[in-house]
Amino acid sequence: MVASRKDRLGRVARLLRENPHLRPGYERAKTVVRAFRRPAFYEVATRCNLFCEGCYYFSDDFAPPAHEVKDQSVWEEFFAAEARRGVTMAYFVGAEPALEQERLLAAAKCFPHGNIGTNGTVKLDPAIPYRIGVSVWGVDEEVDTSLRGANAFAKAIRNYAGDPRAIMLFTLTRTNLGDVRQLAEICADHDLPLTFNMYSPTQSYVRKLAERMGPDGRFFRISSEENNLRWDEGSLAAARRIMDEMLEDYPDTVVYSHAYNRWATQIGPLYDIDPQTGIARDCHSRMVEPMRYFKTDLRHAALEKCGTSDTICSECRMYSGGWSSKFEPRDEDVRDARSFAEWTGMVETLGRIFLLQRKPEQQIASNNVFEWVRVDEVADASLVLAK
Ligand code: SF4
Repeated sequence: MVASRKDRLGRVARLLRENPHLRPGYERAKTVVRAFRRPAFYEVATRCNLFCEGCYYFSDDFAPPAHEVKDQSVWEEFFAAEARRGVTMAYFVGAEPALEQERLLAAAKCFPHGNIGTNGTVKLDPAIPYRIGVSVWGVDEEVDTSLRGANAFAKAIRNYAGDPRAIMLFTLTRTNLGDVRQLAEICADHDLPLTFNMYSPTQSYVRKLAERMGPDGRFFRISSEENNLRWDEGSLAAARRIMDEMLEDYPDTVVYSHAYNRWATQIGPLYDIDPQTGIARDCHSRMVEPMRYFKTDLRHAALEKCGTSDTICSECRMYSGGWSSKFEPRDEDVRDARSFAEWTGMVETLGRIFLLQRKPEQQIASNNVFEWVRVDEVADASLVLAK
């Protein structure tokens, strides 16, 4: 039986009482969680310059909002209102946010924390003081081009080498596991931290496989029922092994966690799936208040399941849903001192992946003043993250 939230908190209190050495990690974890207390997603662009296989955004059901707001002053007023609503963490997604940088610059004046998901082919203005997750699908030119329709990786490295805002986000698929070690080496050489995402199929991708649809020349070019990107037992085990190895071999570059890796590569669904709707009941990426999701018409898309709505919850291993589901400890995280220490470690890692602090002169009046440093450069994250 699943314990109630109150019971879990009781177990946390007992664990801390009996194991005082766990308290510093717990305090750091709390500080990370606090930064995410009122999150919001903003689709700032409906255009993209790549064609990633099985893209979650350009699914068959995709239609851009009928009335995309183009007026910059309206975006500025909108972000100011969102800041007044108390948004602490802004996720900027797209299609490709780097194609609409004026909107990001407007947002930069409003939110203490932000995270931009980009393909890295267009450099973001240095004045945008948010964490930049640069998605990578392959290092080898042939692999990259087959998965994304272009060699995006080489451009991303040129654009972001040494940029303290950037973290490379490698989407592992069954076809690109062979690129991981080379990627870790390149990231280490270019002063870029590296973390991992796992490919998660959309409804339209799986339907095309089942219907044995031929290549469409756009977001479904290389997959077939026999040879596709869906995980199976063997490839999950291989992915787990390679991520564990990278953590050990490149500790100064790879920002990940053994405990998270174990969870994310387990066989079967990661979440409690509602049998009626197929939706993950315990995924913290769900659009449940206070989380809101806005498209480029600036209306709250209250009916969206999450930021990647066409993705199948029972096969979802997306880093966004996965990490945000670690904000609260589950039963297995409070079982004993060891599992609790692993949970606080995961939350700290989450902070290093998603958060970046502003330079003092870029600080918003109501926020704390911290140095412009890469969180993972600081031995004691509490120096950066503590209130
Ligand atoms: S992020 Fe959560 S809600 Fe969205 S597809 Fe994945 S499991 Fe489902």
